[in-house]
Amino acid sequence: METTCPHCGLDAVSAWRKLALGPASTAKCRRCGLKVSAAVPQALLSFVPCVVAVAVVLSGVVRGTGPLIAIGAGGWVFTSVLYLVWVPLVARQVTRQDAVAAARAAAGHRT
Ligand SMILES: [Zn+2]
Repeated sequence: METTCPHCGLDAVSAWRKLALGPASTAKCRRCGLKVSAAVPQALLSFVPCVVAVAVVLSGVVRGTGPLIAIGAGGWVFTSVLYLVWVPLVARQVTRQDAVAAARAAAGHRT
């Protein structure tokens, strides 16, 4: 799971928070409080399976509600997994060393 904070190196956000976090928005690391976001190129690429699924559905090649739902769900699941596992978090502000030191001290230097 790629939820490592680019500032402090600790676990920055939950999986659900990351899924809700697009490349255009920012979240605060729950450890150091500094702003992070999803890396834009990887985030866009991770949406390809969803786009392909929508294209297949719109193309009319597949008929019937069941297969269409399966394709849609498959695209969504694949995109979500890619997004969680592969898209790294990037810093959205200058790293403040005092915040990082405080976060690591609070975490007992676990990485
Ligand atoms: Zn952090």
